[in-house]
Amino acid sequence: MNVHESEKMAGILEARGFSVCDEITEADIIVLNTCCVRETAESRVYGHLGRIKSQKKSGAVLVVCGCMTQQPSVAQSLAKRCAFVDIILGTFNQSKLGEYIDTFMHTGERIIDVWEKEREETACGIARSSGVNAWVNIMYGCNNFCTYCIVPYVRGRERCRPIDDIISDVDGLLASGYKQITLLGQNVNSYSYGGKDFTGLLKMLETDRKYRLKFMTSHPKDFSLALAEHMATSKIMGKNLHLPVQSGSDRILQAMNRRYTRDDYFRKIDEVRRLVPDIGLSSDVMVGFPTETEADFDDTIDLVGRVRYNNLFTFIYSRRSGTPADKMPQLDYKTKQARIDKLIKYQFEISKSIAEECVGKTFEVLVAEKKSGKCFGKAENDAAVTFVGNNVNIGDFVKVKVTDAKNANLSGEVV
Ligand code: SAH
Ligand code: SF4
Repeated sequence: MNVHESEKMAGILEARGFSVCDEITEADIIVLNTCCVRETAESRVYGHLGRIKSQKKSGAVLVVCGCMTQQPSVAQSLAKRCAFVDIILGTFNQSKLGEYIDTFMHTGERIIDVWEKEREETACGIARSSGVNAWVNIMYGCNNFCTYCIVPYVRGRERCRPIDDIISDVDGLLASGYKQITLLGQNVNSYSYGGKDFTGLLKMLETDRKYRLKFMTSHPKDFSLALAEHMATSKIMGKNLHLPVQSGSDRILQAMNRRYTRDDYFRKIDEVRRLVPDIGLSSDVMVGFPTETEADFDDTIDLVGRVRYNNLFTFIYSRRSGTPADKMPQLDYKTKQARIDKLIKYQFEISKSIAEECVGKTFEVLVAEKKSGKCFGKAENDAAVTFVGNNVNIGDFVKVKVTDAKNANLSGEVV
């Protein structure tokens, strides 16, 4: 989400004639886009700011934005603590960045502006982007209130964008040559607009043009069989699914307010695999949620082993003030660290053996990068593949046979 928003802001600045530079010491404008989903990211911001302060050239404009500064109290204390920050905004007014920069450059007056929610005219979802990839927001906010999560507080209630706006964004991106489009939302499976649900939206994006369509994030409670059926027959959909489970323990899932059980989850995974046999699966898993016992954690390990994800994003639970879990009995740091270490090691072995099973198989790879004849891209199941391709260009879809797997990295040759 933040990468996508950073791209969006880069687009705003480029439209004003600025371009990206490599060194902070050369920048005329520095934008620090923050995240508050975990506490570690938040505390790092002050360290980054200290470094930026000492490195930036005099007169450079320093902007801090994102979901950390969306919290008014955090924006205020950051403003006080870091007098050298010129502009502070939240998530809802990021699209105003260009206007804030213009105003600051004219007046030299510090701007601190955090909106409670976004205003109509700024609800734009398109992101210009890097290389072959583009992202399009289909909805904002979240209504789920998982007990650990700060997102519903800093991003507001769920709001879906009109279907026509999404379709015209996607058409525009395809016309500009983008080859992979990812639809974004905190819970895309609850998309609903004008009587159409998420699968309905996806069906309207089917076309004979060659591109790959992806989406994230799906919430297991809302992921439907109809969507898996559509993925199985679609000509454009990527064959991968990010379905964050968070925990393998029913007791913890309930305490998290996730509203599914591990059996519900297994059933959905089985259905998806039956309909889309070679689908690549990934997930978010959190360890150390308040009251998590060794037995709860064992259930998580067991679930991860049974699903055999291609890829896993692992998180140590982090306290977020204002959320219900913050008031529950907490685990000590050592226990949490030991659990995540074990989980990461376990997943590493799974990813490795899945990669080995890919040797000999052929995938359709979308080429995203090319350096001295060496191409890099993603397969339809989201696996990263490198190969040598002399007559291949960035943006091509190329059939590649995997010849080697090192850890989880695949390499192959054009067939
Ligand atoms: N809407 C998405 C996820 C958004 S946040 C979903 O429900 O799947 C991305 C991930 O950050 C979450 O899946 C969760 O694993 C992690 N996360 C969220 N809040 C967290 C917290 N307080 N501590 C640690 N990880 C957290
Ligand atoms: Fe947070 Fe849960 Fe909403 Fe995801 S679904 S953004 S984890 S509240």
